[in-house]
Amino acid sequence: MSIVDRALRRRKKIAEWEANLEELYKKYPRLGEIAHLLAQISLEVVYLQMGQGKMGLTLEELNKKRTALLNEKKALFEKYALPENIEAVKWDCPLCEDRGFLNVGEKCACLLAEESQQRWELSGLGPRQKKQTFNSFSLKWYEDKKRYRTILEECVSFAENICRGKAVDNLLLCGNIGTGKTHLCSAIANYVLQAGISVAYLKIGILMDLIREAKYNFDSQVVRPINRLQSLYQVDLLIIDDLGTEVVSDFVREQLFYLIDERLNFHLPWIISTNLSLNEIGTLYEDRLSDRILGTSTVLKFTGASIRQQLKVLRG
Ligand SMILES: [Zn+2]
Repeated sequence: MSIVDRALRRRKKIAEWEANLEELYKKYPRLGEIAHLLAQISLEVVYLQMGQGKMGLTLEELNKKRTALLNEKKALFEKYALPENIEAVKWDCPLCEDRGFLNVGEKCACLLAEESQQRWELSGLGPRQKKQTFNSFSLKWYEDKKRYRTILEECVSFAENICRGKAVDNLLLCGNIGTGKTHLCSAIANYVLQAGISVAYLKIGILMDLIREAKYNFDSQVVRPINRLQSLYQVDLLIIDDLGTEVVSDFVREQLFYLIDERLNFHLPWIISTNLSLNEIGTLYEDRLSDRILGTSTVLKFTGASIRQQLKVLRG
């Protein structure tokens, strides 16, 4: 929600509150009088402190009056069985009164949660991927546990370094289908998203559709794809899953090159996961692209049997 939307929502809440109070005091006029008298006393206290009292009463007398009014009000609330907070504004977040900030520049937990939800929605991760974390990555499926422990450590360190704002090599996750590459991509994404870093996760096919849509559909519908495409150039971490499953054309090579090259220029990291071998990457994509991918990445090789296949066997 933008700052303007937030301000409008606050104004609406205050208008609702004023209408509710009016109704309450119409129903219970004495409560309205008490509220008015209490406000008068508060004002008089301020005047008195400035040596300009208007009621001719001492501070002690004013306090006595206030206590008597509060007691009367309490008795009326009990008599009419009114909830204690009926005269208060119904804020969604009482902490910041829906401002989103506690002090200048200090965000409230409600705004942080809203921003985190937005980042998550924009990331492109599916609901299942939200549960794919470093903790839920189990080594029990792998024969070569040492290799996978190293891979896991590399991924954790990559995510931690991004969160600390440290420069990182990009990651190239190579290997067979179903060996945990997507799980680790999601785990890295979830880890950095929590730290307030923006992520875009896309399967290569969807990425190419997005580029085609933005480039060739010059009608009124293309605002969204163009914005989305621009965001891929600027997002803190870009994850391209399943490279090699697309139909590799000159168009794909060229567009991928622009994206990768632009992100390199701005030192923005990416992760690419692929079922292709390094040789196949070299052959399938032209040199300038494969050089940029291979020359700037730490390669993590996923080998062994597919976890999905093992799970199928277990389930019978
Ligand atoms: Zn708040």
